Amino acid sequence: MNTRMLSLLLPKNMQPADMVYENYQRICAELKPYGCRLVAVTKNRSAEEVMALYRAGQRIFGENRVQELCAKRTQLPHDAEWHLIGHLQTNKVKYIAPFVKLIHSVDSMKLLKEIERQACKCNRKIDVLLQIFIAEEETKFGMSTEEAESLLSSGDYRSMSYVRIVGLMGMATNTRDEAKVDKEFAGLKNFFEYLKTQYFGNIPAFKELSMGMSQDYKIALRHGATYVRLGSILFGE
Ligand SMILES: *Cc1c(COP(=O)(O)O)cnc(C)c1O
Repeated sequence: MNTRMLSLLLPKNMQPADMVYENYQRICAELKPYGCRLVAVTKNRSAEEVMALYRAGQRIFGENRVQELCAKRTQLPHDAEWHLIGHLQTNKVKYIAPFVKLIHSVDSMKLLKEIERQACKCNRKIDVLLQIFIAEEETKFGMSTEEAESLLSSGDYRSMSYVRIVGLMGMATNTRDEAKVDKEFAGLKNFFEYLKTQYFGNIPAFKELSMGMSQDYKIALRHGATYVRLGSILFGE
């Protein structure tokens, strides 16, 4: 049921903030048995809407644009943690390097090198995920599995000490075909397990799998997502 239909069934005095709260409670209950964490995607949402979620208890927020991330961060309490989930340009890394908690969208060696450089300047470690291309659409960003392996075997990567790769991120094809999405998420999970043994010696830090959006997070949960990135299902369309 979509949000508009739902609003027809709700008491007349039910405000949007209450609805965000109800959505949030329902989703938290769904994620809990899987031990999966929620990244609340705040793109195109006002600071007020985001604050409603903060008050409900949410602390992990994701933006896909650097400028909006920086602006919203100043409007929220300091214990909110910020994740960059969208395509990141190398010239913007410096703006988020001092505080970003996790970058989900590393899709090139060039970007990884810049994150290493800026993390070093800030004297902090930055956790990142490699974004792997798993969808059919040509437009989605991400590395092929070959590119990811070549990055991980390179001397450049091995000499880095401020950037830490803690897992993978992927976006499935935008389709109602559940079997297709299922296959794509299963493929990402398999590749994750393969890298874990081949390149990370099973170290515990390599443990995150960021997959699943409003449309397909239930499928992602079945394949071991540790983060789902949800926007519209929380805030409404
Ligand atoms: C917008 C966005 C999401 C959330 O999408 P919804 O369909 O609103 O849940 C997740 N991940 C990325 C990278 C996004 O840009």
